[in-house]
Amino acid sequence: MTSPNSANDLPITGHLINGQPVEDAVRVQDVWNPSLGAVGSRVAIASKETVEDAIAAAQAAFPAWRATPPAKRARIMFRYRELLEANSDRICELIGQEHGKISHDAAGELQRGIENVEFACGAPQILKSEYSRNAGPGIDSWSEFQPLGVVAGITPFNFPAMVPLWMFPLALVCGNTFVLKPSERDPGATMLIAELLQQAGLPDGVFNLVNGDKEAVDTLLTDSRVQAVSFVGSTPIAEYVYTTATAHGKRCQALGGAKNHAIVMPDADLDNAVSSLLGAAFGSSGERCMALSVAVAVGDDIADKLITGLTKAMKNLKVGAFSDSNNDFGPVITAQHRDKVVGFIDSAEKQGATIVVDGRTPSVEDYQDGFYVGGTLIDNVTTSMDSYTSEIFGPVLQVLRVSTMQEAMDIIDAHEYGNGTCIYTRDGEAARYFSDHIKVGMVGINVPLPVPVAYHSFGGWKRSLFGDLSAYGPDGVRFYTRRKTITQRWPSAGVREGVQFSMPTFD
Ligand code: NAD
Repeated sequence: MTSPNSANDLPITGHLINGQPVEDAVRVQDVWNPSLGAVGSRVAIASKETVEDAIAAAQAAFPAWRATPPAKRARIMFRYRELLEANSDRICELIGQEHGKISHDAAGELQRGIENVEFACGAPQILKSEYSRNAGPGIDSWSEFQPLGVVAGITPFNFPAMVPLWMFPLALVCGNTFVLKPSERDPGATMLIAELLQQAGLPDGVFNLVNGDKEAVDTLLTDSRVQAVSFVGSTPIAEYVYTTATAHGKRCQALGGAKNHAIVMPDADLDNAVSSLLGAAFGSSGERCMALSVAVAVGDDIADKLITGLTKAMKNLKVGAFSDSNNDFGPVITAQHRDKVVGFIDSAEKQGATIVVDGRTPSVEDYQDGFYVGGTLIDNVTTSMDSYTSEIFGPVLQVLRVSTMQEAMDIIDAHEYGNGTCIYTRDGEAARYFSDHIKVGMVGINVPLPVPVAYHSFGGWKRSLFGDLSAYGPDGVRFYTRRKTITQRWPSAGVREGVQFSMPTFD
């Protein structure tokens, strides 16, 4: 839903409230095309009043939507799935223009998002209640899962289609109405998937989208009509969102940042480790919360071989514009972020690490103004370096050298983040010990990006997740519903109970 901006003819992405486009373009912000390093469009930044209008629309739509049978809600998701597939080229194009993702990577993101729509299509099954006949004489008891009401979602720039799709399809089929506040840095693809949801036949007001910044987020976190908040983004904001939302009596799940380590054991299949580390560290320019950004090599021998293998393979890495599908990865999101990533490489060098492959000054022909960082490999990193303690969120792979697997695990456990991790080994016993004991929420065994499928749930440990329930899948159903347990008896004329003051036992 874009309209031309008379000032400079750039289209503006607005809001979607009660099924209608809303412009509210008092405040607008530039949206960059990071491949070109140029402003490509603009986005409206919602005022508090606009967000309140969206909440009011969702509140008004709730009673009828709550009463709609789950099978009918699911039917809309079946249509939605087809529309997402049919419009995938346009969605991926918008992701590419505003995020910089290469088309094959954007297609992968969309596919993982669609899998969540497919899970939501099972609404009648996933909302079936638990029933106990004859819990006592003539007494039946059951638990059912009721919707919460108006639910809000706040999402990051790095998956403008997939992360919103983690949230609203499931929240909606559970009977809630929704207000989404996507990232203001790449709003185009998110607005398109919102429009497709309306086309699928969702009643007006059930789903609303507001673009905006802190003002919009704070309105969602404090408005008493919003019952629950799902957030995905960086850890400082996740912590702020969680503490503010829960202080206002809301249910909240806030997924934060990451520093994902791969242990490379001496017996690892090195070729497999090298090729899969390459994709997991540099795919999407390292701007994935599950990116593997640290390899912990157990023993100098495997460390040396790993560095040699990675250095050789990185000679073929292609960084460039999103529009060329031969590229392996594109630019980072903004010029400021590029400078931050380069700053971390500088600091690692100053603090004594070895820059083995240096991506600080990549040459990307025809796109000199784009926000590019080349694939970077750093050896001899230690746990006290700033580049190690912080999330870099760029195409930088750092190697730590340790002597034992336990030493590697202690390092991972000590890090503030616990999103994903992976072990490369041929030893089943070591792998089993690792997955059993490591303090990380999602574990891969020879699998670099262990992003759970849509019918499991996604969530890290430690400061990668604030809240008790992970995103999507079974945890998502629990998050978006409230359990109610009903105990029922229909006394027949002849069987009347006398007054009973002791605790009922149903014997
Ligand atoms: P971000 O925290 O800057 O922004 C996320 C959302 O919060 C956006 O909608 C933004 O508008 C809003 N926001 C930003 N500053 C705010 C403030 N001061 N007050 C209120 N709201 C604010 O994150 P990002 O840069 O868009 O995304 C990258 C981060 O997200 C990385 O740290 C990455 O690891 C994380 N991430 C985590 C997961 C996960 O599942 N754990 C998934 C994707 C991304």
